Amino acid sequence: MNATRRTAVSPDVRSSPSVSSETTLSTRLLGAASALALGVFFVWGAGFAGAQTLHDTAHDARHAMGLPCH
Ligand SMILES: [Zn+2]
Repeated sequence: MNATRRTAVSPDVRSSPSVSSETTLSTRLLGAASALALGVFFVWGAGFAGAQTLHDTAHDARHAMGLPCH
């Protein structure tokens, strides 16, 4: 039945050493928490920042990339 079919297919998946088909709940929660933290940073950190702060940040990023500025 399905059980015998699964055991026939799964050894190919399990033989690959770098691929883990199991995603644990803690891993998924960690990803969700990271995405939430990044979203909160974008909304509050950048969305509510003052114009001078955004300008300075863009200016620093321009210098960090080595673009000609001043
Ligand atoms: Zn500059």
